Amino acid sequence: MRIDVLGCGSAFSLHHTTSAIRIIDNQQAQWLIDCGPTVPRALWNRKVDINAIDVIFFTHIHPDHCAGLAVLLNHWKSFGRVKPLQIYCQSEQQTVLVNQIALANWPHTELTFPIEILNSQPEWKWRGWQIRTAFAQHEIPSQAIRIEADNHVLFYSGDGRPTDATQSLMAGSTLAFQECASWQPLTTDASHGDYPACLALCEKLALNLMVLYHTQDADRTAITRACALHPNLRLSNDGTLFDLEKPNWLQAAL
Ligand SMILES: [Zn+2]
Repeated sequence: MRIDVLGCGSAFSLHHTTSAIRIIDNQQAQWLIDCGPTVPRALWNRKVDINAIDVIFFTHIHPDHCAGLAVLLNHWKSFGRVKPLQIYCQSEQQTVLVNQIALANWPHTELTFPIEILNSQPEWKWRGWQIRTAFAQHEIPSQAIRIEADNHVLFYSGDGRPTDATQSLMAGSTLAFQECASWQPLTTDASHGDYPACLALCEKLALNLMVLYHTQDADRTAITRACALHPNLRLSNDGTLFDLEKPNWLQAAL
């Protein structure tokens, strides 16, 4: 399994691509998690093949997590993608995606490939992957996801503060991505993560590696410095590739 960090940016970052990752398993199956406005360009810069991505999973449909979908589909249509696409999203949030699919080739309705929109459930299987989701604490329902594949466990928080449910998905992960908007502590009813709470959680769960992302531009320097003092905590960066099949991947990441 390889994890390509397309973007680690907060919603309005001036310097970083909006938060998204690409997961590539050992059979070359590919998932994209979230597709904010600057994610299509990150894919084009990598020359990702138009037929490479099998599934897009949306943690939630705030614009910084889904507003790139119409553009990406338009690109795939324009260059003749043929592979069917599956989209997983909470059932209550799918209308927004349907509207973006309509925009992708408006006023025409057809694309060059079929799209299937599926409900993300608390648990399901996709090919050899075992998938579980749980809700974080956010302004709108936002799902964290745990993927077990290729003998690894990947956790990606989506937006929001950790909840008991997302913490149990995170426990035992090979690699955990946790949303951490703020260096300063936020109130316990806030809808974003903060550094002190992330650090406490990383220690409580004795994580292998917690990668903090979706951090406000102004807070990155302080968080980078603080993470350097902690052996299992790092601030995410655009373009990092975690190749979990390499024996020394963790040492390289730290
Ligand atoms: Zn966001």
